[in-house]
Amino acid sequence: MTRKVPKKSLITGITGQDGAYLAQFLLDKGYEVSGVLSDGHQHSLHRLKILGIADRVQLLSCRLTDIDCVGKLLSEVQPNEIYNLAAISSVGISFEKPDQTMQYNCLSVVALLEAVRRLGIKTRVYQASSSEMFGNALCLPVTEDSILNPISPYAISKVAGHLLVKNYRLAYKIFCCSGILFNHESVLRPDNFVTKKIVSTAVRISKGSREKLKLGNITIKRDWGYAPQYVRGMWLMLQQALPNDYVIASGQTHSLQEFVELAFINLDLRWEEHVDIDRGLFRPSDITVTLGDSSRARKEIGWEYDMSFSDLVKILVKDEVEYQTTQILS
Ligand code: NDP
Repeated sequence: MTRKVPKKSLITGITGQDGAYLAQFLLDKGYEVSGVLSDGHQHSLHRLKILGIADRVQLLSCRLTDIDCVGKLLSEVQPNEIYNLAAISSVGISFEKPDQTMQYNCLSVVALLEAVRRLGIKTRVYQASSSEMFGNALCLPVTEDSILNPISPYAISKVAGHLLVKNYRLAYKIFCCSGILFNHESVLRPDNFVTKKIVSTAVRISKGSREKLKLGNITIKRDWGYAPQYVRGMWLMLQQALPNDYVIASGQTHSLQEFVELAFINLDLRWEEHVDIDRGLFRPSDITVTLGDSSRARKEIGWEYDMSFSDLVKILVKDEVEYQTTQILS
């Protein structure tokens, strides 16, 4: 009896929220999973450890903005699929470090696509694009064909990556897809993201902490989903006969205030008693509302999402309670 040869995947940004969930998803599908640790960047393996998969993935080092280095890596691993998730991913940090954001987020996409082109390999590429690319869209919900109107250094860098993918697909027939993902959350979100900050602070307050939760503009509205369900969309895009770009979104929008209220209600607390609005936390320019339309993803690749907003917040709170308890015990 012949055994099926496992497919090989390579994930940049494997140490981040999506990288960790995607690695777990691909391992469950029987893939060999390699991840890239970028030279010159301090990585933490704690998300892979939380999911119990740190020793099931191969970790390799590479300067991801260097075409030759990426070419050597691809020749060594020979992946069937590459998921390019590594990025300076915070809008807030991109205002503080616009130069590094542009440099890393743009050059790493060029290096990857150009290495694939030069090697002439059939590797399929997923690029992590973002709803932020549409800025304050004139028409909601946003689709794949909506006008790009970025209003932060992060969003501008993501537009560059997005357009590079379209260009390499058209010019060189490379199988590359952009997943235009709307905000997706989990207990593995880094601490500097607002949902994680809200939930982790609320949980600490419920356990007796006397701290205040400091927030910026809580009137903004976002299309929020649950991260483990979004990584399936990334994989589905690379399993199709032809490459394309797809919006992955929940199709609902809610204000940050609603998120805060629900997080505290889940812990039997009144949010008004624990939150301070700090104008210093307002962004220089911010998107008022995001809302995505995933009809193309539903029809063409079979990606579905059916979690309600209240269930999402409930899961985030429950997982955070568990996470903080295991942190104290370990
Ligand atoms: P995370 O911030 O959790 O992970 C980002 C990854 O990139 C981490 O592995 C991080 O390493 C790595 N990284 C960050 N800066 C650098 C750098 N200068 N050099 C090399 N590696 C770096 O993001 P997510 O997992 O949430 O997102 C994955 C991708 O999807 C990102 O490209 C993001 O912009 C995009 N995206 C995310 C959305 C979301 O709602 N989560 C929405 C739309 C797009 P480490 O953690 O070890 O520092």
